[in-house]
Amino acid sequence: MAEGDRKRTQEVAHRPGSGGELSGRTVLIVDDDPAHVAHVREGLAPRGYLFREAHDGPQALSAIRESRPDLILMDVEMPGLGGVEVCRIIKANSGEDGFGFIPVILMTARQAAGKVEGLELGADDYLVKPFDMLELSARVKSMLRLKVLQDTLVEKNRELDKANKELARRREELLALSRTDALTGLFNRRCFEERLTEEFARSRRYQSPLSLVMLDIDHFKRINDTFGHPFGDQVLKAVAQTARTRLREVDVLARYGGEEFIALLPETNPVDALKVCERVREAIAGLGVEHVGVEGKRQEVRLTASLGVATVPSADLNSAEALLRAADAGLYAAKGAGRNRVRQHVP
Ligand code: GH3
Ligand code: MG
Ligand code: MG
Ligand code: MG
Repeated sequence: MAEGDRKRTQEVAHRPGSGGELSGRTVLIVDDDPAHVAHVREGLAPRGYLFREAHDGPQALSAIRESRPDLILMDVEMPGLGGVEVCRIIKANSGEDGFGFIPVILMTARQAAGKVEGLELGADDYLVKPFDMLELSARVKSMLRLKVLQDTLVEKNRELDKANKELARRREELLALSRTDALTGLFNRRCFEERLTEEFARSRRYQSPLSLVMLDIDHFKRINDTFGHPFGDQVLKAVAQTARTRLREVDVLARYGGEEFIALLPETNPVDALKVCERVREAIAGLGVEHVGVEGKRQEVRLTASLGVATVPSADLNSAEALLRAADAGLYAAKGAGRNRVRQHVP
């Protein structure tokens, strides 16, 4: 070591610790010359960094794999795997799932011609030996600052990513909520009307059958009046559940109003639609909803529903509204005929 260098090293070493926010950062020193490693450590000692050492390329790579340093100071001229080659490997693995960003300062005895080569290969800085200790210290400090900034950026990006995912999840949730009837969990009327428009257009385009069912609970007011509104709600849930399980996955079932339900049955002709309606009607008529009275008295409450159904294509039904009105007329007819029955629109 030149006398001048030694002197400067001493000066640096005796300055009070000035690592500040960077103290505690890890610097990996890679050099095949132990004396040079010691020299660099000595020069950086007052900064409060933590040091690790490696004496050849493979050792350096396994040290990085073991735990990522915040900075690498690496000799270019090492037997076997040289510094430039190791640097290339580090930079090729700088993705989030690799080593991440680790600044590399190459140290070389070679002259400035090699400088360009090193930087092109992704080294972040370059020092030519023998170097001034103050220069080393300054470069290390600025590279570590860069590393801290980069780490902060990565962390912020990660947070942003997480926040974005959460936002997307909540948007999904809200969307689902805006389509759902809170009491029964079925689709609500607005969602149903959207689906009706879509399905009607599809049915018209492909001339495929589409059936629409309207269902209304019979004498529901009586149930409310006799057993109370909360029990009425329970009945609505039970009816919703019963109807849902009697329909196919592709059928759209919604709560249309108070105690009215509506269903869309794609690819369903009048004969099959009538069968589905009968099945639902029968299931509801077979339902017993348990009511627990004030003194714990239990009672099975029975109920029935009336249904109207219509199907397109039909010569007299040219719009979704017409289909809806036809099913509603069927429901009205079922009520008039004594309830607990299905009435089908006939063109
Ligand atoms: P009909 O056989 O002719 O259909 O007779 P109904 O008593 O079922 O018909 P009506 O339309 O007179 O009564 C419907 C009742 O449904 C009146 C209303 O208080 C009740 N209702 C509407 N929405 C709800 C609800 O969300 N919960 C409860 N428990 N009752 C509701
Ligand atoms: Mg060397
Ligand atoms: Mg009604
Ligand atoms: Mg009713």
